[in-house]
Amino acid sequence: MSLAKIETHDYPRWQSVATYAVSRLETRLFIDGEFRDAAEGGRFQTVNPATGETLTKVAKGRAEDIDRAVATALAAYRSGCWSRIAPRERMDILYRFADLIDERAEELAVLETLDMGKPIGDVVAEDLPAVIDTIRFMAEGIDKIEGSVTNTDNDALHLVIREPLGVVGCISPWNYPLLMATWKIAPALAAGNTVVLKPAEQSPLSALRLAELFVRAGGPPGVFNVVNGTGEIAGKALALHNDVAKISFTGSTEVGKLILQYAGRSNMKRVALECGGKSPQIFMADLPDLKRAVDAAYNGVFANMGEVCSAGSRLLVERPIYDEFIERFVGDGQDAYVPGDPLNPSTNMGPLVDRDAQQRVLRMIEGGKREGATLHFGGDAPAGLEKGAYVNPTLFGDVRNDMSIARQEIFGPVASVIPFDGPDEAIAIANDTIYGLAAGIWTKDLNKAMRLVKNIEAGVVWVNSYEDGDMTQPFGGYKQSGHARDKCLDSLKSYTQGKSAWFRLDTSK
Ligand code: NAD
Repeated sequence: MSLAKIETHDYPRWQSVATYAVSRLETRLFIDGEFRDAAEGGRFQTVNPATGETLTKVAKGRAEDIDRAVATALAAYRSGCWSRIAPRERMDILYRFADLIDERAEELAVLETLDMGKPIGDVVAEDLPAVIDTIRFMAEGIDKIEGSVTNTDNDALHLVIREPLGVVGCISPWNYPLLMATWKIAPALAAGNTVVLKPAEQSPLSALRLAELFVRAGGPPGVFNVVNGTGEIAGKALALHNDVAKISFTGSTEVGKLILQYAGRSNMKRVALECGGKSPQIFMADLPDLKRAVDAAYNGVFANMGEVCSAGSRLLVERPIYDEFIERFVGDGQDAYVPGDPLNPSTNMGPLVDRDAQQRVLRMIEGGKREGATLHFGGDAPAGLEKGAYVNPTLFGDVRNDMSIARQEIFGPVASVIPFDGPDEAIAIANDTIYGLAAGIWTKDLNKAMRLVKNIEAGVVWVNSYEDGDMTQPFGGYKQSGHARDKCLDSLKSYTQGKSAWFRLDTSK
């Protein structure tokens, strides 16, 4: 059922959709256009974090399965069935792929919610439209990426031809399972590559349906393959594979560093990294509208349970407005997100992805209390939801940038407010981190805004807004947040390589 039709589903309707979806879960690997069991037959369980119940057991791919998927993808690449078809033909298949995702939105949405706890309303209003947009944008870009003819002497013709890379290995995280995978597979496929996707083990289900829909849209078998499994085994095997031309990775900084090592230990494959963040939002005393700024502050850190790489988790507030900012944040932000069953479309905060994540976030909150930050609200798990991996939205004030809650990526609904005096101190605090994914700046003064934009070490900077953007906007980090750029035409180009073809001519004839 399409996106337009599911927007009005109520809670009982989503519950019955979920029951039906669970009865027909696909759990095998998807290789060469077919679902297949893992070579060794192993399985791992995937759990619904809202209830703690096992949803199903999923085929556990290992090195042998990665070998099989990469060999299939390489054969498909070399056959030219995808890489050499007319650009318009590839475009048409990707447009049909986007249309089919829209048609199957009901099942895809419920799989995301069951697998990782994301509120169903968010999947319908944000994730799925963004997935569809990404595929359409990259499809539109196919014949907009051009090679060139350079200026040479009269008897030569020199072309730079843009070609695909070959087999692209995509390794994705669980916080936006479909969207993060699509930010990789859409440009990789649009550029004519073939793909092996290794989804996160916490959210293995929706990617299998995605690959199936690609084949239904007319995508040749073997072009888009999915191998589920653990990062340490299947992900590592993919990143070490000698026939993989590029690894496109989104996940933690720690694992991103391993991916670089695997590339060096194997075939020097290209590596694109989208990693962690500890992004600052800077609220200057002359900001244009305190209410709008505070709304952006709590939305920027509580949305998607705080499991957002670009979450604005460090809120730097200039001292003259510090007390008012905290007062308003407590007034408006404390009850803005209420944990509940993510299948209920009126719920805006689901559980964290699993029990381990919940315990890790609660331990970090305890660290913040021990180090002397002021807890204004939250700090615990909600009563009555003990079966799930829930954490209440949490606000800490009087935070110093050397406290653990200001330094480590919490990846949960925890905001830390840090007071500062003047733009120089704001810049120093903002940049005092290993990360550099995103930043927000709130001020009426355009000159001050530009000074901050230029001095803040982050790949994305928003002024008087947060988490805004569209497909034209490059998304990616500085420093240890990685160096890839998702979305945008540059992303599509990064899945191509330039071949220089020099023709010696004799123009006298
Ligand atoms: P993670 O690094 O634990 O896992 C990410 C992926 O890597 C998973 O598929 C996992 O199976 C795989 N993996 C784990 N160990 C591996 C290994 N040794 N070799 C190969 N693959 C391996 O991260 P996560 O917990 O799934 O996701 C959360 C992290 O992702 C956060 O740090 C978050 O900031 C980051 N993230 C970044 C962006 C971005 O665009 N910059 C977007 C979303 C999430």
